[in-house]
Amino acid sequence: MRQLLTLALSLAAVWAVLGAPAASAQKLRVVTSTTDLKALTDAVTGDLAEVDAMARPNQSPHDLEVRPSLMVKVRRADAMIVNGLGLDDWADVVAQGANNANVIPGAPGRIDASRGILVLEVPKTRVDRSMGDVHPSGNPHYTLDPGMAPAVTQNILDGLARVAPQHRTAFERNRQQFLARVNEAMGRWNKMLAPHKGSLVVVNHALWIYLLTRFGLVQVGTVEERPGIPATANHIVKLVNLMREDHVKAIIAEPWSDFKLVQRIAQEAGAQAAILSATVGSVKGTDTFLGAVEFNVKTLAQVLK
Ligand SMILES: [Zn+2]
Repeated sequence: MRQLLTLALSLAAVWAVLGAPAASAQKLRVVTSTTDLKALTDAVTGDLAEVDAMARPNQSPHDLEVRPSLMVKVRRADAMIVNGLGLDDWADVVAQGANNANVIPGAPGRIDASRGILVLEVPKTRVDRSMGDVHPSGNPHYTLDPGMAPAVTQNILDGLARVAPQHRTAFERNRQQFLARVNEAMGRWNKMLAPHKGSLVVVNHALWIYLLTRFGLVQVGTVEERPGIPATANHIVKLVNLMREDHVKAIIAEPWSDFKLVQRIAQEAGAQAAILSATVGSVKGTDTFLGAVEFNVKTLAQVLK
């Protein structure tokens, strides 16, 4: 009897060991459009999911080229998290091409992280893409604002809990731990930028309005004539004049901008130019969500001195 019991116990031990790899093979498979959304999703799922971003960190999510390799990535996904607001409409093409019913628009595994957020820079007149403006539904770059983390991670959590309700409690616990860290850092970031409240800045592409607004900085112009439309000579002359008159201290740009042009304009206007991390991982040392915001806040504090 004792021997049988020992056998049963050791079988249980074997099952436990064999069970472990099986459980990890059952990880949720999640794809996100951007690296920002990957970072925010990782924060919610912890090790319960494999999260993969479709865009690379060093490219504008506006101009992603849909390749067959992306469709392979999406073919077996349980969920797809998109930015919405027109930033990543290409994700629809990928989802259709991947022939994966889990992630097509309207499927439970299709998650729009922008749900319910207050959209800034919504055009007052009708804008369509034939005019070349890449922000026809308003500014889509809300993930750059750390103050959006609670709303965005809530959308991610609600979406993933539709696909994997058994993990809702764990997701919520991870999310709360992450938001506590964001909150703690927020105090530090507010302090760093407090002396610069009301400072005027110019930006290259209109990526930064949510971040700037959060910390009380004021955007007075863009190098691009409109989002996605390069500057004309006439526009640059006007911009330089405005920067001189208003004593604008800085132009901020994204890593894939024409930074030589940005620097020339800054020099003419007597301002500083700086590159910020436009997506998680786009600048060295910004491989986490908190790291990217930290870099951006520090850089802003430096150029506004
Ligand atoms: Zn944009």
